[in-house]
This record gives sequence, C-alpha cells and structure tokens, in this order.
Amino acid sequence: MASLNDIRSTFLDYFARQGHAVVDSSPLVPRNDPTLMFTNSGMVQFKNVFTGLEHRDYNRATTSQKCVRAGGKHNDLDNVGYTARHHTFFEMLGNFSFGDYFKSDAIPFAWELLTRDFDIPKDRLLVTVYHTDDEAAEIWKKVAGLSDERIIRIPTDDNFWRMGPTGPCGPCTEIFFDHGPSIWGGPPGSAEEDGDRFIEIWNLVFMQNEQHEDGSMTELPRQSIDTGMGLERIGALLQGKHDNYDTDLMRALIEASAHATTSDPDGPGKMHHRVIADHLRATSFLIADGVMPSNDGRGYVLRRIMRRAMRHAHMLGAQDPLMHRLVPALVHQMGGHYVELREAQALITETLRAEETRFRQTLDRGLKLLDAELEGLSEGATLPGDAAFKLYDTFGFPLDLTQDALRERGRAVDVAGFDAAMAEQKARARASWSGSGEATDAAIWFDLAERAGVTEFLGYDMETAEGQV
Ligand code: ATP
Ligand code: MG
Ligand code: MG
Ligand code: MG
Repeated sequence: MASLNDIRSTFLDYFARQGHAVVDSSPLVPRNDPTLMFTNSGMVQFKNVFTGLEHRDYNRATTSQKCVRAGGKHNDLDNVGYTARHHTFFEMLGNFSFGDYFKSDAIPFAWELLTRDFDIPKDRLLVTVYHTDDEAAEIWKKVAGLSDERIIRIPTDDNFWRMGPTGPCGPCTEIFFDHGPSIWGGPPGSAEEDGDRFIEIWNLVFMQNEQHEDGSMTELPRQSIDTGMGLERIGALLQGKHDNYDTDLMRALIEASAHATTSDPDGPGKMHHRVIADHLRATSFLIADGVMPSNDGRGYVLRRIMRRAMRHAHMLGAQDPLMHRLVPALVHQMGGHYVELREAQALITETLRAEETRFRQTLDRGLKLLDAELEGLSEGATLPGDAAFKLYDTFGFPLDLTQDALRERGRAVDVAGFDAAMAEQKARARASWSGSGEATDAAIWFDLAERAGVTEFLGYDMETAEGQV
C-alpha cells in the first residue's frame, strides 16, 4: 500500500517529468501577504508570479504546500472531527503554469496521473465545470471520455475562482471521487452534496480573466494554471479508505493518542482522537514556522487550536499534559519531508507542554462552571453570553472552545451576548486608562492589555481577522 509519503513523491515526480520545477512548500505565515493569516493554498507563494510582479527562472512548478484553514474566509476548524474530509492543517499538492500551458494540457495531466499512475477506475470519477466553460467541458469529453452526466455544469462561485475583489480570476473544474452508495451524500450541485460520498479531490483553476475595479472583466494576456489536490483525500481513496483519518499517517497519530491515554482508538473517544491528531499537526507546524501562542492575531488562532485539542485530551481522561507526548509520532511520520519539523521538535514539545500545563489549571474549574450553567438551563436553551464571557475571561476558554463543547450537547452560545460582554469590558478598560495621560507609545498598549486582561488584544484581532482572504 502506498503511504502518504509515497503518494506525495509520486505526484511531485510526475510533474517533474512534465518539466515542472519542484519547489519547496512556503511557510504557513505568508511572506508576501500581510492581509492573509495563514497560507491556505498552493498558489499563495506564487501570487506575485501570476500577476507578473515577480519573475522566477521557471514557468512551471509543482509543490506540496503546507496549508492551514482555521480562520478567515476558509475556516474548516468546525468541520474537524465531524466530516471525513476536512483538516485544519493539510498538504495541498499542486501544479502551476505561469503563462505557459493552459487547459488543454492541465486537464490531460490530471487525468493521466489519476487514471494511469494512480490507477483510479475511470467510472468512479466525475467532474464539475463552470456553467459557461464549454471549452473545459469539451476537453474533458475528449480526453477522459466522460459522459455528459459526469461533467456537471455549476453556475455558482464554487466554480469561479478569484484572487481578490480585483485581479486574476477564472473558471475552475473540480474532480470528484465517488466513494460508493454505502456512504451518504449526493453529487456536486445536488442538495445532498455535503455528505461524504462524493469527495472533491482536485481543483484546477484556469486563470484567464482579470477583474477590474470598474466592474469590467478582460482576458489576461498570459493565461495561467493553478491546481490543488488534498494529499489526505487522494491518500484515503488510494488506500481504499473512505475517511482521511483512516490513512496511514493520520492513523499513526490517532494510535499514538490512544496509546498515550490507554484508550481504544475506535471506541467512544474516537472523535477526540481525530481532533487531537488534526490539531497536533496544525499546532506543531505553526510553531515550527515561528508562530507562538498569544492573545492576538496568528498566535491567538494557534492558542485556540491548542486549547481545543487540550479539552479533548481532558475528555479522554488524560490526567497530565498529553499533546507534547505525541510530537515524536508526528516527527516520525512527517519529519522526513519537512525538515523544519525535526529542527523545531524541542521548541514544539516545550511550547505544548507549557501551554497545556497552564491551561489545565483552569480547564477543570471552567468545565465545572459550564456544567453548572447548563444545569440551570431548560432543554436546548442557548448558553447566555455573559457565561461564555466569564469562561473566556476567567478560565481562558476561547469562544469557539465553548461552542465546541456545547455542540456535543446540541446547544449553542448567545454570541451577541458574548460580544456585548466583551465590548463592555473593553469600554471599562478604556475608561480606567484615559485618566493616566502619561506615555504615548506602544507601552500604553501593552500596559492596557495587561490591566484589561486579554480582551483589548482580542478585539483588535477580531477586526483584522474578518478581513482575511
Ligand atoms: P471542500 O469544498 O471540500 O471544502 P474546497 O473547494 O474548499 O474543498 P479548494 O479550496 O478547492 O477546496 O482546495 C483544493 C483542494 O484542497 C481540495 O480539492 C481538497 O482536496 C483539498 N482541501 C481543501 N480544504 C481541505 C481541508 N480542510 N482539509 C483537507 N483537504 C482540503
Ligand atoms: Mg472548503
Ligand atoms: Mg469545494
Ligand atoms: Mg475546490
């Protein structure tokens, strides 16, 4: 059975043979884009190459890109543990053409790799195209011999990609694998699309247009290709599994979690192990790329992911910090390809240990408070915002951690009430500061944050986080 490590190599080797430069993954903190919280697709490191601002000595490239989707427009955090196909951290395999080849090569490359090198049966595959993209539909028909029902025309933005409000854009085609009728879900475009039967494995973007500020759209002089395929998704199907978390790599992490907590990987705690395995990867790779847990910006997203995993460890009955004990399993699985993980192993271990030690001091008491609050509520009622705020402010529970805990019990939080409690505390903090009238530099900011707790910083982060791509 091919491992995820083998599959990554097969992909990169295939495109290397087709004249692509094999380029390293860029870091999870984008170097060239301060507006983007984390690298969330393969094209991020090539943005300026696509727009022509930057030139490289190759016009075809292939990568396996580290991606995190846990904030901003692409946020899959809430999907983790619930769907078979989403992670917060995943690897996106991609091939890119910078004004070189276009649709009539990109489609045959993808088809050949999937059906010849990976030997996927043709009748398990289907594709979507943007509803006006006759050219792509024709190429699919010719190259793959797919019947019209297996080339689904989609009129929504799911099949029209944009770099931003202006700039390069174009139709895309998505390749789906049918995991079979034993699994719930319908084909793309149908009402049951959200199930796990038809899984999107690969997205090919045809950058052929440019969107201008005045609303008009023109043809790009240099047409380009940007593709992305989730390694864990292609891995699952090649390993005959229906779930990303059953692939060799994810399974090794799940088993490490089960071993460390002396519990059954497939028992009642199954979901906790999945969340822990996923969040272990996201946190470790973020730390390796220089993000540290903190109360604002990227560091706060990291802290949210870490604490969420730590609550799940607690639910498994772990009496001591767990996450740091799983780092060797992760390094064993992924340190071969990602040197930075190996190099940062000590830092990752210590950061996880310190954060979990600290959080465990309040976690227990916070969970007890949460239980007590819930007891006083009628069946299905939402948790009042001020209770969620108290959990946040006193016990260090990020809002989404409380939401995650409630979701298991079919309840929600009054988010507006939480925001109001937060705003009130911010106002109080401001009022208490305005009298001092001394320093005028950054010291004020830090001093204020100190006195007000973390909320002032969080408020700042919330505003910028909305603006993510
Ligand atoms: P979905 O519709 O399943 O959420 P997407 O359309 O958001 O996927 P793209 O932005 O097209 O995904 O990313 C390209 C590829 O990356 C997808 O086809 C998929 O294989 C993979 N991918 C995207 N999001 C995730 C994720 N959260 N976890 C694992 N793989 C992912
Ligand atoms: Mg998505
Ligand atoms: Mg999609
Ligand atoms: Mg897609």
